[in-house]
Amino acid sequence: MRNKYPGVCYRCGELVKKGEGHFERHQGRWRVQHAECAIIYREIGRNRKKEVKQVDEKRKAANQEGERSHQEIQS
Ligand SMILES: [Zn+2]
Repeated sequence: MRNKYPGVCYRCGELVKKGEGHFERHQGRWRVQHAECAIIYREIGRNRKKEVKQVDEKRKAANQEGERSHQEIQS
């Protein structure tokens, strides 16, 4: 979700202007990060091979599910 209010990025500590980042609920509080920092963090996450593999498998399963239902609609 895009941030409606400015805040301090919890990843890099810099100011996040309104609409330039994402905010999320974390441990009962709202926190904000830059859109860029979210992307960087996602890249770092990819290097953790085991977790990435699990995510990929889930994504593949979801895609196959989607394709199947799509074909059913077409036929
Ligand atoms: Zn940041």
